[in-house]
Amino acid sequence: MAKTQQIIRGALLTDPALRRAQAADILIIDGAIAAIGPPGLTAPEDATPFDAANTVVHPGLINAHMHSHGGLARGQGDKWTLELLLAAAPWIGGGRALADKKLSATICAAEMVLKGCTAAYDLFAEFPLPTREGMDAVAEAYAEVGLRAVIAPMVADLSFYQAIPGLLDALPDALRKAAESLRPGDGAACLAAIEDIARHWSWDQAGIRLGVAPTIPHHCTEGFVRGCARIARANGLRLHTHVGESKVQAVAGRRLYGRTLLQQMHQWGIVGPDFTVAHGVWLDDADMRLMAEMGGTLAHNPGSNMRLGNGLFPLRRALDLGVTVGLGTDGANCSDNQNMYEAMRYASMVSKGQTPRIEDWAGVDEVYRAATQGSAAALGFADAGDIRVGAKADLVFLDLHAINWIPHNWTVNQLVHAEDATSVRHVMIGGRQVVRDRVLLTVDLPRLARAAEAARERLEAANAQVKALTEQLSVVVGSFCPGLAASPYHVRRYLAE
Ligand SMILES: [Zn+2]
Repeated sequence: MAKTQQIIRGALLTDPALRRAQAADILIIDGAIAAIGPPGLTAPEDATPFDAANTVVHPGLINAHMHSHGGLARGQGDKWTLELLLAAAPWIGGGRALADKKLSATICAAEMVLKGCTAAYDLFAEFPLPTREGMDAVAEAYAEVGLRAVIAPMVADLSFYQAIPGLLDALPDALRKAAESLRPGDGAACLAAIEDIARHWSWDQAGIRLGVAPTIPHHCTEGFVRGCARIARANGLRLHTHVGESKVQAVAGRRLYGRTLLQQMHQWGIVGPDFTVAHGVWLDDADMRLMAEMGGTLAHNPGSNMRLGNGLFPLRRALDLGVTVGLGTDGANCSDNQNMYEAMRYASMVSKGQTPRIEDWAGVDEVYRAATQGSAAALGFADAGDIRVGAKADLVFLDLHAINWIPHNWTVNQLVHAEDATSVRHVMIGGRQVVRDRVLLTVDLPRLARAAEAARERLEAANAQVKALTEQLSVVVGSFCPGLAASPYHVRRYLAE
């Protein structure tokens, strides 16, 4: 079979070891980087030239944690804690037809690639149970847009109301009955559905893999978590769970298990190199050491953590304790964009904003590594997150004439602190041009907007009743949960030591 060969000339190549990116040519053969060298690099005669003059090239950013079911729920809430968001989930994500699921994923995938992201770890929820058609529809969306991904059905066998100790008892009788109607599907049926999805998964060749995401430890029974881990490991799938995202969760974990949520997950045999903790705001030092020891990864979502009032993740401490940290945006229903440049900027700012002791700060090179190599480790993509020979040609070209680069002093610093995705000129994924001269080649955006607007209108009407119910429930959630978070239980944090 004839090889596809491209030679990229004229770009400045980002290298965290250098203050300023240096000119380099890149040879791509069959979607992978075959050679990198100084300008004038020898290339086969029939290699297609790609003129990248006046650009700086960096490896595609990788989103280590997001939820594409949130694509249609962008901008729905304002003063929402995590618990109020979970209470609102039935109306902001309810009543979805198969086409809505694909539409929601397409919106997120399109936004990510337009903003310099080439792969994502997507925890996708279907209610009451995950389905083969649903997961295929999400995979189809990524394949059509051109992104690589890990897609994990996000699952639980207990409802939010069952998961928070004391919350059901705090509800008036009529509301307690109504809350019971919001239960997820049966655990055994859910595990059978995941096995069915795994058995029929056909997207690996497109760079789209399946994962499994038991959503939050105490939203799952022990047997259910163990079942998820068993299926994942029998099929070589990655595992991903929100652990210690909010203080409410950390307190609930202590009350339910007498130990931290991560220690409980470890007891259940899920913590390992294939396991990603999302958020981890409330992990203590012992938890972090356990993550490092077991070789797991952590997806840090600074935007969502602030948006939902969950606290400030100690990035420096996590890195010092040996944790592999990736970066994510979290869902469009809680962050609300899918902008990995913003995630990098927030990660740096949140680290620096917690203390004036600069030795406790993360540097721009570490934040940049988290958004590339750290996230790649979370997805289990060994051939992503770096521009080196043998890696996939997942490349983002930024326009050096865009205002963020005038002047160009320190490449990685400006990537983290100055870039906001408005300089993204071209994006290549596996050597395929997905964005060219700022235009997304794979999706008709006006058409996408029309479809989304029609879906929004229909879903708003369809979910009106469940919205009214969840608003009543939210009154109790909004007063009960902050009370739980204010309880004396205190997670030991290094800044307080
Ligand atoms: Zn999440």
